[in-house]
Amino acid sequence: MRMRRIRNNPILRSMTAETSLDVKDLIYPLFVIEGENIKKEIPSLPGVYHFSVDRLEEEIQDIVDLKIPAVILFGVVDHKDSCGSGAYDDNGIIQQACRKIKDITSDLVVITDLCMCEYTDHGHCGILDDTGMVDNDKTLDYLAKIAVSHAKAGSDVIAPSDMMDFRVSKIRGALDENGFKDIPIMSYAAKFASKYYGPFRDAAGSSPSFGDRKSYQMDFHNGDEALREIAQDLDEDADFIIVKPGLAYLDVLARAKDHFNTNFITYNVSGEYAMILKAIECGIFDESIIMENMIAMKRAGAKMIITYHAKWLARQLKEGHHA
Ligand SMILES: [Zn+2]
Repeated sequence: MRMRRIRNNPILRSMTAETSLDVKDLIYPLFVIEGENIKKEIPSLPGVYHFSVDRLEEEIQDIVDLKIPAVILFGVVDHKDSCGSGAYDDNGIIQQACRKIKDITSDLVVITDLCMCEYTDHGHCGILDDTGMVDNDKTLDYLAKIAVSHAKAGSDVIAPSDMMDFRVSKIRGALDENGFKDIPIMSYAAKFASKYYGPFRDAAGSSPSFGDRKSYQMDFHNGDEALREIAQDLDEDADFIIVKPGLAYLDVLARAKDHFNTNFITYNVSGEYAMILKAIECGIFDESIIMENMIAMKRAGAKMIITYHAKWLARQLKEGHHA
C-alpha cells in the first residue's frame, strides 16, 4: 500500500481528511467586569478584554457576526466575601450580563461558568471549614443557589468548574425543582490542578490567597482517575463533559472519548493561548500553528473547543482558510 498515492493530490487529501474544524465547534470565553464604560485589554491575554455590561453590545454583535455559536461567561468583581455572595446575587455581574446578552440577541448560547473563587475573599472554589479546608458538602448548597440564579437570569447552560464531589446531582436537583428541567449542565469533570491557568487567574482575579487547589482539582499524574470522575458526573446526569486543560491532556480526552459516548469539550486554557501567542511573536511559528492545535483537539475527541482563539479562528474560517 503506497499511502502517498492519496497524499500526493491536494484535493484527494482534503476529501479524505478525517477531521475538520467548523465555526460551530467554537466557544468563546468572555470576561465581564463591574463598572461602567470599560473595555480593557487583559495584559496576560493579549487580544482578550474585560468588558463592563454596558459595553457588551459591540462585542456580542461581533461574535454573532462571526457566527460563533456560544460564549462562556466569567465574572470579575470588586466586592468579595467568605461565602462568595456576589455569585448568587440576582443582580450580580453574571446575572446582569446574561440579561443584557439575551436583550441583544437570541442567536447565541450563553454558558455560565459556575464557581466561587472569583467571588470569595480567600479565592478558593468553595466554603472553608474551621481548618481552612474547602468544605465539600457545605459548598454544594451554595453552588445550587448560584446555578438557579444563573438560570433565572437567562443562562442557557450551567458549567460548574469547582470540582466538588456530587455537585452535578445537587445542581441538577436544584434546577429541576425551580422549573429549569431543560437547562443542561456542562461539567468540568476532569479539571486538573495546572500551572496553565496562570493568565486566567490574573484576568479573573481568582488566585487563592493561600494554599492551592490540589485537594479538589485533579492531580496531573492521573489518567484513570479522570475516567472515574467523568463516569460519576455522567451518572449524575451531566449533559456535556469538559476536559481541562487542553493540549497537554489530550491523552485523557482520547481515552475518555473511547470509554463514553457523550459530548466532550476541551478547554484550550489561558496558558496555552498566551504561550502560542508569545511563540508566534518570537517568530518560532506562524499563526497556522493555532489551526494545527485545534485539529489536534478535534482528532483527540473534542466535539467543541473553548478557546481564546475563537474569534481569530472564526475569521479564518469565514475567509475560507481551513487547516
Ligand atoms: Zn474556582
